[in-house]
Amino acid sequence: MNTISTNILSIRTHIPPHVQLVCVSKFNPNESIIEAYETGERVFGESKVQELCGKQESLPKDIDWHFIGHLQTNKIKYLVPFVSLIHGVDSYKLLTEIDNQATKSGRRVNCLLQVHIAREETKFGFSAEELLEMLSLGEWKQLSHVQICGLMGMATYTENRDQIRAEFRGLKTLFDKAKSTYFASESLFCELSMGMSDDYQLAIQEGSTLVRVGSSIFGHRNY
Ligand SMILES: *Cc1c(COP(=O)(O)O)cnc(C)c1O
Repeated sequence: MNTISTNILSIRTHIPPHVQLVCVSKFNPNESIIEAYETGERVFGESKVQELCGKQESLPKDIDWHFIGHLQTNKIKYLVPFVSLIHGVDSYKLLTEIDNQATKSGRRVNCLLQVHIAREETKFGFSAEELLEMLSLGEWKQLSHVQICGLMGMATYTENRDQIRAEFRGLKTLFDKAKSTYFASESLFCELSMGMSDDYQLAIQEGSTLVRVGSSIFGHRNY
């Protein structure tokens, strides 16, 4: 049996049924994605718009493509016709731009709001305060072509498991607060995207519903 399918079978044993595995296939060739597809995986994550669009065109049409990277406004239009979930919406402006483009395509686009939970400066996202303020202003309720499906976050790159756990726990607390305050009657606000190859089991313990796993499936990338 080849490595990719072996890796997937082993990862599945750690993922309960209410958690969705997103196979992060960025920088990996179509053949590798097909290997994962043949084991039954249908949800794949990419972080570059051009790469995602190329793969979407040439690979099976029943794949659900998630965009997990940092999205520039001028590239939204390429994703909107087919993307199944945009994980990293990190500003209100970006949300409104997605809504504009989605309106033009006549589609409602699923989005997660990215929250900055790590200590590193380099990661994108709303702070907890900014997120709650944006939600409390309520203008987002007018955006009829985006569906806010939940939150996404990335923990600090560190060996310190306690710190990673605390960051995930903080994001789950924020998710619960946003849910009960602004989305109590919105069943589609139900996703918490947290956890990657090194920390997805921890993230699941802390309430993740979507884990984004790349190198544990496809091997280490050279970039
Ligand atoms: C690359 C990437 C992942 C996957 O990371 P691995 O450590 O390879 O599992 C998950 N989330 C985001 C946002 C990424 O850019």
